[in-house]
Amino acid sequence: MDDVIGHRLSRALFAARPAPWAWQCVFAAVLAIALLLMAAGGALSSLDSWLGLAGLIGAVTTLLTPLVPWQRIPRAFVCAVPVLDIVALGVAGLDVAGWALAPLMLLPVVWCAVELRLRGAVIATVATLLLYVLPALVHETRGGATLAWSLLVPIAAAGISFAFASVLDAVEVERRQLAGARETIDRQQRFADAILDTVDVGLLLLDRDGAYQTMNRRHRDFMQLAFPDGHAGHAGQLGLVYGEDGSTLLTREEMPSYRASQGEEFDDARMWVGDDPLTWRALSVSARSVRDEQGRFAGAALAYKDVTDFMRALRVKDEFVASVSHELRTPLTSIRGYVDILLERHDLPAEAQAQLEVVARNGERLNRLVADLLHTARAEGSMKVVRTRQDLGDIVRASVEAAAPAAQAAGIALELDAPASLVTLVDGQRIAQSVDNLISNAIKYTPSGGKVEVRLAVDGGRIEICVADSGIGIQAADRDRLFMRFFRARHAEEQSVQGLGLGLGIARTIVESHGGRIDVESELGRGSVFRIRLPVSGDDVAQPVVQRDPAEA
Ligand code: ADP
Repeated sequence: MDDVIGHRLSRALFAARPAPWAWQCVFAAVLAIALLLMAAGGALSSLDSWLGLAGLIGAVTTLLTPLVPWQRIPRAFVCAVPVLDIVALGVAGLDVAGWALAPLMLLPVVWCAVELRLRGAVIATVATLLLYVLPALVHETRGGATLAWSLLVPIAAAGISFAFASVLDAVEVERRQLAGARETIDRQQRFADAILDTVDVGLLLLDRDGAYQTMNRRHRDFMQLAFPDGHAGHAGQLGLVYGEDGSTLLTREEMPSYRASQGEEFDDARMWVGDDPLTWRALSVSARSVRDEQGRFAGAALAYKDVTDFMRALRVKDEFVASVSHELRTPLTSIRGYVDILLERHDLPAEAQAQLEVVARNGERLNRLVADLLHTARAEGSMKVVRTRQDLGDIVRASVEAAAPAAQAAGIALELDAPASLVTLVDGQRIAQSVDNLISNAIKYTPSGGKVEVRLAVDGGRIEICVADSGIGIQAADRDRLFMRFFRARHAEEQSVQGLGLGLGIARTIVESHGGRIDVESELGRGSVFRIRLPVSGDDVAQPVVQRDPAEA
């Protein structure tokens, strides 16, 4: 506790560093009061006593101190004033009554230490030694006891002054370290600001309550577009922030800053900011949580990447794809129609019949591709589905039967495990499209000799359609992006398996439009399992009616 008080006093002294006249005024005032009190008590017999001389020295020193131009002479000379004060007190000590003034020594002793630290402490100690001990040695009226008393003063002076000097030194070291650390922090802060301002990505840091902590220049530009009337600096404020379609305003819960402030982590959340088509920008936002040492949520960092050119190119591409696919459809429909008419004839040679079947199959494939392209170009996240009572058992069985020739040609065993009937509310055509896609992928990405298993079951209140293969598998890094438009896994590209990278994205849109999910588990080189899960509870979905195959019973 004393240590703390001493330390605080030293810090205050160090910080304030009083002027010499202020020190001296305090000393003179205390000395004058002490002398007056002693005079009042009858301790002063006459002015020519030692005490009178001490008072005179104190008074002269006090008068002279403000007259010295201390700024122009080295500060060390200031010590002359406290030394003169010690002289005054030493002179007073020659009188028996003057001993009462010995505690006043504290002030000049501390002053010396404050001015010159260890050197000041040495000066104060030597001065008190000379002025208290020497007179006690030579004064004929002093005995051994007085000498012992006289020694106490320099000992106390040494203790106090050295203690002050060392604490002040420590304070100075601490102050220097603090100043150094502050300078380093300032420098690092300037570096960090410069780096943050250099990058072409908007960066934002939120604290645990969602308050904006810091942002770079780029993000300030985005904020100007999104919040032209200003921003209160808290996550979730609504502004000119639109979804990926560029027309639906985001709600508070959809705002990336709000989601991040709730501890959500995400990538590539797309949005548009601003409402002027000339200046608005499309942003792709990623968020990561910041955690403290205990792993608790402490804030979030968000990166806003400008993807305007990409989004515009995507739109142009979609329009192009849509118009090309549309143009392809008309001649394709005519080709398929005429091939069907030809195939119905019975007078064709067997060879021509087989060749026409190839044309029909490829025409069918081309038709599916064009349909996929059209859908991809037009689809905006969800899809309109028309649910009616459908037998999923029939749907899955039909998909497997349709894929059987392709599986056989590829040397792959195709197996089905499904109940005879599983009736529920779905958009039959769309679900069939998804299952077709999963099965055709499984066959496409499984080498000859492999196996594809299709399973339909009701599992824990959900319908599960599972397509498992023993094929090439998908590496972990690609798994998250499989369902993105035009994405193709590196492994598939390397093995030159043909495809556009659209089927899975469409399958996911279909399944999600039914309120379901599609997941994948896979291991490179060992195969993949794709699972469609559809809800069976809820008002709008019929409870499935499962009928096992009578042959199994
Ligand atoms: P496509 O098959 O036309 O390329 P998809 O969207 O159906 O497009 O599939 C996207 C990518 O996912 C494929 O290119 C392939 O890399 C990977 N993939 C899909 N199914 C499988 C599977 N069963 N085994 C291995 N990779 C697969």
